[in-house]
Amino acid sequence: MSAVPPLEPALRLAVTLLHSYWVLQEPADQLSVARIRAAGRDLDLAEVTDPLGEDDLPRLRELRERLYQVFAAPDPAARLATLNGVLAEVSAGTAVESGPDATLRLTPLPRPGPVGPFAALVAGALARAAATGGTDRFGVCAADPCRAPYLDRTRAGRQRYCCELCNNRAAAAAYRSRSRRG
Ligand SMILES: [Zn+2]
Repeated sequence: MSAVPPLEPALRLAVTLLHSYWVLQEPADQLSVARIRAAGRDLDLAEVTDPLGEDDLPRLRELRERLYQVFAAPDPAARLATLNGVLAEVSAGTAVESGPDATLRLTPLPRPGPVGPFAALVAGALARAAATGGTDRFGVCAADPCRAPYLDRTRAGRQRYCCELCNNRAAAAAYRSRSRRG
């Protein structure tokens, strides 16, 4: 049994990004820069989210799709390979740079724009979660048509649905199909 990854602020931010798309909400895509920046402020990560602008929205969507593929990959090895692909792009390394008051600070590479540090932060959070709990804990909801990504933080690590709602919908559907057969 693997350890449960802690729900650190950067991981919550990753979840906020991932859950901005849900086929069961209307509209399905509710990603906005305002939403990400509000989450960043709540999580004390505003230094990474405040620089984001409306121009970054297409790249945020692309990042969300790339991260989703980590959860949707068919097996643990494929999840790891997909995650490493994203990491190689967004956080290939760390640079030390001087801040405004001449103190030195660590900065993830590369930094092509505001999405760079944001992407490095959320991808890094998934990497830490994978290192702690294993990629078995990454999955997509088994309830149709949901397919929302989830990070299994249950002790037993046998989660199949993204939320209670989907769990109940799936149980009701299974009951109906049993009743029809019986
Ligand atoms: Zn679901």
